[in-house]
Amino acid sequence: MVIGRGGSLIQEITTETGWTAEVLRTPPIASETVRNVRDFLTRNRDERREILERVGRQIHRDATADETFTRVTSLGCCREVGRAAFVLSTGESRILVDCGDKPGADGEVPYLQVPEGLTAGAHSLDAVVLTHAHLDHSAFIPLLFKYGYDGPVYCTQPTRDLLGLLTLDYLKVSKRQGNTPPYSSDHIEEAIKHTITVDYNTVTEIAADTRLTFQNAGHILGSAVSHFHVDGTEDDVVFSGDIHYDDTKLFNGAENSFPDADALIMESTYGKHDDIKDDQVNAEEQLKAAINETYERGGKTVIPAFAVGRSQEIMLVLEEAMRKGEIPKMPIHLDGMIWEATAIHTAYPEYLRSEVRKRIFQKNGNPFLFEEFNHIDGEDERQRVNDGGPSIIVSTSGMVAGGPIMSWLRHLAPDPDSSLVFVGYQAANTLGREIQQGADHIEMDSRGYNNNQQQRIPINFDVTSVSGFSGHGDRNELMGFVKEMSPQPDQVLCVHGDEDAVDQLSSGIYHELGIDTVAPKNLETYRFD
Ligand code: ZN
Repeated sequence: MVIGRGGSLIQEITTETGWTAEVLRTPPIASETVRNVRDFLTRNRDERREILERVGRQIHRDATADETFTRVTSLGCCREVGRAAFVLSTGESRILVDCGDKPGADGEVPYLQVPEGLTAGAHSLDAVVLTHAHLDHSAFIPLLFKYGYDGPVYCTQPTRDLLGLLTLDYLKVSKRQGNTPPYSSDHIEEAIKHTITVDYNTVTEIAADTRLTFQNAGHILGSAVSHFHVDGTEDDVVFSGDIHYDDTKLFNGAENSFPDADALIMESTYGKHDDIKDDQVNAEEQLKAAINETYERGGKTVIPAFAVGRSQEIMLVLEEAMRKGEIPKMPIHLDGMIWEATAIHTAYPEYLRSEVRKRIFQKNGNPFLFEEFNHIDGEDERQRVNDGGPSIIVSTSGMVAGGPIMSWLRHLAPDPDSSLVFVGYQAANTLGREIQQGADHIEMDSRGYNNNQQQRIPINFDVTSVSGFSGHGDRNELMGFVKEMSPQPDQVLCVHGDEDAVDQLSSGIYHELGIDTVAPKNLETYRFD
């Protein structure tokens, strides 16, 4: 409506006012995050203009270097999962790709203190590029602003909004656990203020000699495979970020064709030979079977899930199964940040799988507005759901490490008619892993829940684990991404995986595809040419 027939209205606005209008979509589900971020940027438009002008001058300065080269230094995320941070340095510029935390490992931040990091001063970085909003890639982006960085952060629009949502939650969780957060919400605001959003498949100059192009990574909303072209060199460097190569219900699979690609920095989360997950169809069948059995017993099915990505995938699976009559209609309660994260998804249908996008654009077709979805609002409503009939509950946190899922467990774990279905990876040292491995009770107090009253909750409900819904590609997908990549890279650096995973993936790529591979350690530097 706003654009007009053939863009006529937009043109008229430009002709009449001399300004180009930018059209923003109002999410069909109201999102506080999207509204807050947009209002914030509008309120700070004068400062934004100064930032953008400064960035522009920086990019279009005369080149000063008389030598060209391309190097990548790893500040984290090598032979481990977490604290992703890489510095891409060229003759002319230095770019930081991601800056995340390491979940479950207190205090392990990227090696920012080395000369390639921030020792030369936060000002020595020309740009920061964020591949996606997961905290193991993004948590310390605001910290850079505390250290004095005041340059641009390039990411997609949904990544910017999710960065706001997830880092604010990171501060909240950190305080709740009695830790002193490494930065404050002011630094998150600074980070948002400095974002420059880039759409997929749009070439953008981000430094005097470097151009960035994002492509769909299929991993979470707004996730991007990041391609860097360095002027004056033959070096095109691709950072895969986290990828899912096959299509899922929610996203098209990662894109892997580039104008040129010499080096690939490749995630290896599921790089081991035996990291072969069930296919999606199988996973869906297992989930539906568990729900049907629980329903017949009159119980409730509780599904712990990450707020961003996995929850929306599960929502689409449940919506389709109920629409087709494969599982009985019953309320699907969504608890924690899931509703807000879903609202953000509906604000950016362009980033979703083509089929879902089409349905969102159709009136009455939006799968996320399915009548059985219910947003849980507080403990009273949880109590009512517990007292009621069969239902499905999707709740954070995905690894049962806090959040509203604790309340659901207290009520439902002792009930032999109910069940719990894991749809994601349960890391070592999480309560999720303990339950998955057959724990027969939960001590609520030791986890800091239940108002400090010691309580021993017996686990009587059914526990099922369904693999196949991961946001990461499995071994076959990772190999497929490289094998079918166009053009084939000359060198692959396998990162973002445990020791075994990076070793086995790098040897697989070398032996099966004949490409030079390295599984670097943290703090190593590679020169490409
Ligand atoms: Zn991720």
